[in-house]
Amino acid sequence: MKACTIPGCGRPTAKAAGTGFAEHHCRYHVQFKARHGSHWCPTYRAAELKPYVTVARDWVRNHRQHPTVAMALAWLDGLLANAGRAEMAQNIKRKPAAERAKVAFARLREAGIEAERVLAIYLGVSALIEDDRGSHRVREFRIVQVAKALHRLASGTHKSWEFDTGRGVVPVRMDVYPKSSGLVLRVMGEAIEECAGNVSGIALEPILAAKQERYGLHASHLPGWEPLWKRQTKGLEA
Ligand SMILES: [Zn+2]
Repeated sequence: MKACTIPGCGRPTAKAAGTGFAEHHCRYHVQFKARHGSHWCPTYRAAELKPYVTVARDWVRNHRQHPTVAMALAWLDGLLANAGRAEMAQNIKRKPAAERAKVAFARLREAGIEAERVLAIYLGVSALIEDDRGSHRVREFRIVQVAKALHRLASGTHKSWEFDTGRGVVPVRMDVYPKSSGLVLRVMGEAIEECAGNVSGIALEPILAAKQERYGLHASHLPGWEPLWKRQTKGLEA
């Protein structure tokens, strides 16, 4: 039976197990990729991302007038402005991914997230992936991580309104926004990269330099660091 190609996994591939079409990965790692954008690299925590986004935000503020930056900000503005309205979870459940991505952008706009913040997050995520020697440096991981970081900004949003019961008015609160599916995250990330991708070429180098100066080296550049697969393999042996 063919085994999953992720080091240390050993489960049968989805195809071999009859649970899917994947020829090289098991069902667990197929689902892992859907959620994170990589078969093995987990989603960055907000705390890991923060120094990069902070530095990126300063860089964006200081370079608003640069033609490439101004263009990206205008496109991102358009993306948020043209997203329609933020609908309630029940209404969007059955809509296709492109529609749901639009709703997600509308929701960011309604949460007060502006183009500059979106660009800073895009650049911050890109810089972290570049800086982290243990990261998965592929487009899919990058766009999913950008979408997830944005998603976190608005996911705490709730809607409340008054509801007249007939015997008095009571406030009703509801969690309006569901978790995004893997497909929606990809559609969102792709749209942002289309707007912001050109900025990376001029921004990543100064952002990485500023990050190092202000917060020091990423852990993966320190002595004794080992990649995730190596740490996980050790755990299995111990
Ligand atoms: Zn596996």
